[in-house]
Amino acid sequence: MTTPWESIHPEALTHLQNLIRLNTVNPPGNEQIAVDYLAALLKKEGIDYQIVTAAPGRSNLVARISSGTSEGPLLLSSHLDVVPVEEKKWKYPPFEARIEEGYVWGRGAIDMKQMAVYSLMTFLLIKRLGLKLKRDLIWAAVADEEVGCDLGSKFLVEQHPDLIRAEYALNEVGGFTVHSGQKRFYPIQVAEKGFVWLKITAHGEAGHASMPHGESAIVKLAQMIDKLHKKFLPRHLHPVAEGFILALASGHGFPVSPILKGIVNPYGDLILKILPDREAAKFFIATLHNTACPTIVSGGHKINVIPSEATVLVDGRILPGQIPETFVREVQNLIGDGYTVEVIKQAPPQETPVDTPLFQLLKEVLEERDPGSVAIPYLITGFTDASFYQRLGIKTYGFSPIKLPPDLVFSKLYHNHNERIPVEGFQWGLETFFAAVRRFCL
Ligand SMILES: [Zn+2]
Repeated sequence: MTTPWESIHPEALTHLQNLIRLNTVNPPGNEQIAVDYLAALLKKEGIDYQIVTAAPGRSNLVARISSGTSEGPLLLSSHLDVVPVEEKKWKYPPFEARIEEGYVWGRGAIDMKQMAVYSLMTFLLIKRLGLKLKRDLIWAAVADEEVGCDLGSKFLVEQHPDLIRAEYALNEVGGFTVHSGQKRFYPIQVAEKGFVWLKITAHGEAGHASMPHGESAIVKLAQMIDKLHKKFLPRHLHPVAEGFILALASGHGFPVSPILKGIVNPYGDLILKILPDREAAKFFIATLHNTACPTIVSGGHKINVIPSEATVLVDGRILPGQIPETFVREVQNLIGDGYTVEVIKQAPPQETPVDTPLFQLLKEVLEERDPGSVAIPYLITGFTDASFYQRLGIKTYGFSPIKLPPDLVFSKLYHNHNERIPVEGFQWGLETFFAAVRRFCL
């Protein structure tokens, strides 16, 4: 049976608008309202689901269509929380989901209520079309991704692993159009950095502030932060990052192509220091190095007293293949003696192989749906729910397709003012997502 897209598209658009209108800014999250909305739709069509509540108002929904076979299941994952907004900076109100200028505007439009709708419509379509699956299809609509996953994917992995255990998962950040020169690419996320949050303490000599001295902990802290800001940690060229940058280069001619190619060479850090496009440089630096970004400083308690200690919290991010111990050593080598470095929280990087049938299928589907484009593996600098799914051995890819016009850059919409999704790009994404899931599960 063919898919009735002419009636599915308006239905999907309405669900996207309704989900954006349900405010799930985290904190506090309140994902329960979105879970209730989705559960009512599943119930009406006779699809099995469970609601697993981690804390008041913080629910997760897990739905399943069983196949009756022992083939490894496919998990679809979408977090339902969104990041806060600065309402005054938006062109259209962030929770009204208005359709203007060919876009749906609103918080969560691309991160990632659109994928919740892709997953919902995929479940409804499989049920309505009476499709018989060869592997179980699971959908986890989870809470709390934006502040560390404790009440969402981490909670499910630790407390209810059997509900979501799967061979593969499709998750966020991938499948969107990247225009590079003359070419179009579709990154499929296969790797993400982990985090290692540090507390670094500077030690000095106390004293009366009427007689400043060079051993002040505050001054030492400032000098150390300056070093963290000015110098790169050692470079670690990951094959996925290298392949991605070389692919971007292939879309360009002189002089952009040789510059991009130069970035992956051993002297590439020199290029990164002077690259005029600082927005691009920021991405390349984070893709090729572990990073240590100071975010919270504290020290001192009285204006006329030089304190003997001052601290900074540092958001460290490590590449796949790196471990916290070597990262701490890199930081210590860069800042020098006189500081105590402690790890306060960490999550490992994650990496999924690309030589799997599912990766190949996702690549084929994307390239078919946008002829002439090329789908390539992608490493992201942030972390997602994938970091917890990997604890259950679930091979997770970032595949949340959206077709974007050349003037719209995905990374600039992410967590930013005026988050929006092109209506056409959303519809293209839904059809692409459904095609991939259908081909893999049927
Ligand atoms: Zn997200």
